[in-house]
Amino acid sequence: MPTTLGEALSVLEELKGDAVPIAGGTDLMVSWPERFIEHERTYLDLSGLDELRAHRWTEDALEIGALTTFWDIVRDPQAAREMPILVDAARTVGAVQIQSRGTWAGNIANASPAADGVLSMMALDAVVELAGAEGVEEVHLDELYLGYKQMRKRADQLITRVRIPRRTLEFQSFVKVGSRRAQAITKIGLAITRSDAGWRVVASSMAPTVKRCCAIERMLDDRVPVDGPGGFAAAIGSDVSPIDDIRTTAVYRESVMARVLFHELARVCPWICAGGDSV
Ligand SMILES: Cc1cc2nc3c(=O)[nH]c(=O)nc-3n(C[C@H](O)[C@H](O)[C@H](O)COP(=O)(O)OP(=O)(O)OC[C@H]3O[C@@H](n4cnc5c(N)ncnc54)[C@H](O)[C@@H]3O)c2cc1C
Repeated sequence: MPTTLGEALSVLEELKGDAVPIAGGTDLMVSWPERFIEHERTYLDLSGLDELRAHRWTEDALEIGALTTFWDIVRDPQAAREMPILVDAARTVGAVQIQSRGTWAGNIANASPAADGVLSMMALDAVVELAGAEGVEEVHLDELYLGYKQMRKRADQLITRVRIPRRTLEFQSFVKVGSRRAQAITKIGLAITRSDAGWRVVASSMAPTVKRCCAIERMLDDRVPVDGPGGFAAAIGSDVSPIDDIRTTAVYRESVMARVLFHELARVCPWICAGGDSV
């Protein structure tokens, strides 16, 4: 249990990346009782690293520390004013117990395709700070994931901070479709933003990783007219590759994603409105 970041990084280097960082433990502890032997590892308990606990607002960014929990952001009125989709996402993670232990950094490092925190942060163009013995590097969150549970972060690196630029956001929306309003893993998630950087459309549970939907973003930037959910079908087909799993089917995912997109965007885009297509 290191008490400084320097100490934590030396342990990771010394153990050649074999030590497993543990923050809130809400992902790591899930399979603990069943697969106990697998868990006989060295754990690097980050909870003593006070320097990584707080989040703060600088002139041009929100900086989320490695130990900032979902609940820290729910409780921050500034977040509700400026980046409500972070609060909306945090409020859907598990229930209050999980929100008050689970961290945003842990949500990123766990690399689940259904990660709700990642969904919102990616739509806000978050940048992830990775620290290791060789120094600090920054990776855009939308470039971090390489495939299912695979990322550009090395095992000897820690996520120390997430930086979210403060921009004028004309539109923000977070939609999580699940079986119920709490303690439900996302079947289809969408986070949409519009700023002077353009449209961002990010989907979860629709591909091996949380993923930006660049074909849909281009349709919006070019104001391509859409007269019903079906108008998004081709772009959805090029952006994501949903699968059938225990939560639902690929067909359901594609069709609900099209409907959610249509209903969210028709509120704000005059070129998206109901025509002949069923809504
Ligand atoms: C009942 C329940 C419900 C849940 N519901 C949801 C939900 O609705 N939506 C959702 O998105 N998630 C959900 N989760 C998953 C989990 O709560 C989140 O992913 C959470 O953000 C994980 O954060 P943590 O701090 O607990 O991570 P931990 O469990 O401590 O760690 C998770 C992973 O990240 C690594 N890690 C942690 N911190 C760092 C760091 N700073 N640098 C490098 N690696 C690090 C760990 O080694 C581990 O691989 C749920 C979990 C439970 C148990």
